[in-house]
Amino acid sequence: MIPVKIYCVCGQKYAFEVQPHDGRMPVPVACPVCKRDGTADANQLLAKILNGKTQPLPPPSVNSLLNSVQSSLAPHLVDALKDAVVQELAAQRRELLVAQQAAAAELTELARRLEAVQTPLLERLRAYEQRVSELEKDLADQSKENRELLKLKIDLLREKIEIERGASRVNFN
Ligand SMILES: [Zn+2]
Repeated sequence: MIPVKIYCVCGQKYAFEVQPHDGRMPVPVACPVCKRDGTADANQLLAKILNGKTQPLPPPSVNSLLNSVQSSLAPHLVDALKDAVVQELAAQRRELLVAQQAAAAELTELARRLEAVQTPLLERLRAYEQRVSELEKDLADQSKENRELLKLKIDLLREKIEIERGASRVNFN
């Protein structure tokens, strides 16, 4: 069995193990997210691996990496390595938090601009909804992390639209 890892153009990564048939994929494969055919990419990768240009890599899970070095490293080095992994994860969470705050700030700025010029409610709603559809268009061709962020921005805008609609109902009553 040969491990194959494919990076789809949509940003999704997917991996599987395969017993090649005549050095090629025995069955077609497709991206689990966008359904794009990955068979040609898989065949190219198999050709490289089978020609010895590339060594197949073991699955790069943190635990298997830690287990493989554990026996050859002093315990304090293993601990240092674990700390480094934990710090890396914390850094990724921090980045996401900063990105979420930036998304909220962007919406606040849009709302402030519209309110500063006393834009009528209907135009404000239209501006928010236009921004939502722009973001939804971006959503289609983004990596997973960016998709999470775009979804968050869309949710924030939808909330804002709901609040504005609610406020207008009160005003007209
Ligand atoms: Zn894809």
